[in-house]
Amino acid sequence: MSNTKHIVTFRGVRGSIPTDDPDKTHFGGNTSCVEVKAADGSHIIFDSGTGIRAVGNQIAAQHDSAYEIFLFLSHTHWDHILGLPFFAPIHQSFATIRIFGPERAGVSLEKSVWGLFQSPYFPLAPDDIEASITFTELNTGVQSITDTYTVASSPHPHPNGALSYRLNLGERSLAFITDIEHTKDHLVPAVVEICKDVDILIHDSHFTPEDLPEHHSWGHSSWQEATAVASRSGAKKLFLFHFSPNYSDDDVYAMEKLARQEFPNTVAAYQGLTEELTPA
Ligand SMILES: [Zn+2]
Ligand SMILES: [Zn+2]
Repeated sequence: MSNTKHIVTFRGVRGSIPTDDPDKTHFGGNTSCVEVKAADGSHIIFDSGTGIRAVGNQIAAQHDSAYEIFLFLSHTHWDHILGLPFFAPIHQSFATIRIFGPERAGVSLEKSVWGLFQSPYFPLAPDDIEASITFTELNTGVQSITDTYTVASSPHPHPNGALSYRLNLGERSLAFITDIEHTKDHLVPAVVEICKDVDILIHDSHFTPEDLPEHHSWGHSSWQEATAVASRSGAKKLFLFHFSPNYSDDDVYAMEKLARQEFPNTVAAYQGLTEELTPA
């Protein structure tokens, strides 16, 4: 099914752990997941946190014959993979799910993902999954989705590592940069490079600048690093992402307001937000 536009939907913007606290319902409690439905109908997803459950229900309902999903994992911390066992396409024998991500701490991507499907933590074993699943470990490089859609990756600093991604949809582009710790007063050069002139920059803003210093080595950023990357790279629009589960809606609104003073075209991403890109 094709659209006239590329449609980007934020399905989960929370970091660390899902929350249903009543003071956090505007930005939402599902963890990391961004869906891109490309204009040619390609299904591209970044991260499989709890936000992926709703994506899977919609995609599964759209198909009754062979199709593909491209899933790019920034890394395999729980908040980025926890939704995968509840992703409906895994139960469709005609679905092919292509999973991309890093090897971490000497554990292969395949082993990390199948670790979710193990007794006594989950009732299904890998052999019970009906879809065809492929695994491709990434480091620095470029993956093709179609002749004109590609995804570039490069490693960035986070405990046990994580990947920055740039999705190129013909002339349109999106960067997905989460769970990243820049060195104080020094942005990671490879991140600035991979974000060069992107239409949409999604960047970790887990902590406030006040809370960030006491969480040194946790592997995160504040809106200050996010706006600095946006300015330095020439990004057109910035979405703050991966908010601490301890921050209320008011806290996140305050971050958004301050960030706009540095980079005016900033939005704090919320669950359900869609952004359209017109193919060039
Ligand atoms: Zn995370
Ligand atoms: Zn992480």
